[in-house]
Amino acid sequence: MNAEALNLPTTFAMAPVRHDWAREEIQALFDLPFNDLLFRAATVHRQYFDPNAVQVSTLLSIKTGACPEDCKYCSQSGHHNTELEKEKLLEVQKVVAEAREAKQKGASRFCMGAAWRSPRAKDMPYVLEMVRQVKSLGMETCMTLGMLDQEQAEALADAGLDYYNHNLDTSPEYYGKVITTRTYDDRLNTLANVRDAGMKICCGGIVGMGEGRQDRVGLLQQLANLPHHPESVPINMLVKIEGTPLANVDDLDPFEFVRTIAVARILMPQSFVRLSAGRQEMNDQTQALCFMAGANSIFYGERLLTTDNPEADHDRELFRRLGIHPLELLGDYSDEAAEDALQRQIAEQEAEEQGLFYDAMSRRPAKPVLDKRA
Ligand code: SF4
Repeated sequence: MNAEALNLPTTFAMAPVRHDWAREEIQALFDLPFNDLLFRAATVHRQYFDPNAVQVSTLLSIKTGACPEDCKYCSQSGHHNTELEKEKLLEVQKVVAEAREAKQKGASRFCMGAAWRSPRAKDMPYVLEMVRQVKSLGMETCMTLGMLDQEQAEALADAGLDYYNHNLDTSPEYYGKVITTRTYDDRLNTLANVRDAGMKICCGGIVGMGEGRQDRVGLLQQLANLPHHPESVPINMLVKIEGTPLANVDDLDPFEFVRTIAVARILMPQSFVRLSAGRQEMNDQTQALCFMAGANSIFYGERLLTTDNPEADHDRELFRRLGIHPLELLGDYSDEAAEDALQRQIAEQEAEEQGLFYDAMSRRPAKPVLDKRA
């Protein structure tokens, strides 16, 4: 089936936001010639977003390893023998200090992740305090803590949590080959609890786990046909970790990854599509294609953000080479935000006059670094 047979729009009419995508339609998008698919996705992207603005989040693991779940891709699962160093729940003050530093370096959202099946009652007061204190820094907050019941979701929403991350991972058909300790329906229930509590949802999946294209179609259909599209849709490329059951799975063609991003953009035109795990293993060209296909959010990991390491430099340089700038706080149309944008433009101009570039993440002029990976 091709686009014409499906009566898909070939003009610049505003792409509709739909929740009734059929698998055949999604399959037909995946099957389009690569250039046609990218053109279509880029067109939709421009209808809803500034194509050169990318939202930047920072991620901190607040409790690491020894997770009772058996997700076959994950280094934190207690079922696999990986070399990961386990860490107990971090102290609230340590988390707040990390968030403060992330903000100073330009992150607008702070994401906190704990390797749990679901939060225990005794951990909830600490987690809620983290949300309150990070929120009071003026940042958006996001957490991923495993499954939530309605009461836990409401408590987090009351504390001021903006986003909850809970991924569907893959299609319902392939899911059992990846995780056995919680069901697809468990995940959908958590998403419903989060939505009912009034929080925004960050939900996506992982590709390159040995699944077929039909599973990537199935995953995106599940996401696109939720009653409300997730506000953030992370698309992860499997990072193969020694000691996990998926350590030796075949590589996914990077063009297929780009296609997945493009189809996600078309199906969920108002969502932030996040180029997530696996980005560090991609070359610059693949990342650029992903941005062109409609990816407009990245993780800028805690280590990358809090230290001046080469990877952080490389990200800044890639943004500069592509003319991309980090999106300021979402939905902030205040005078302060407008003034901030103006100051950024002035600083960019001044830096250029000095032969430098304005590093919008650190908000300082910086020297271009040599491209080590191109
Ligand atoms: S629930 Fe999360 S932390 Fe635990 S094994 Fe699965 S992906 Fe890893």
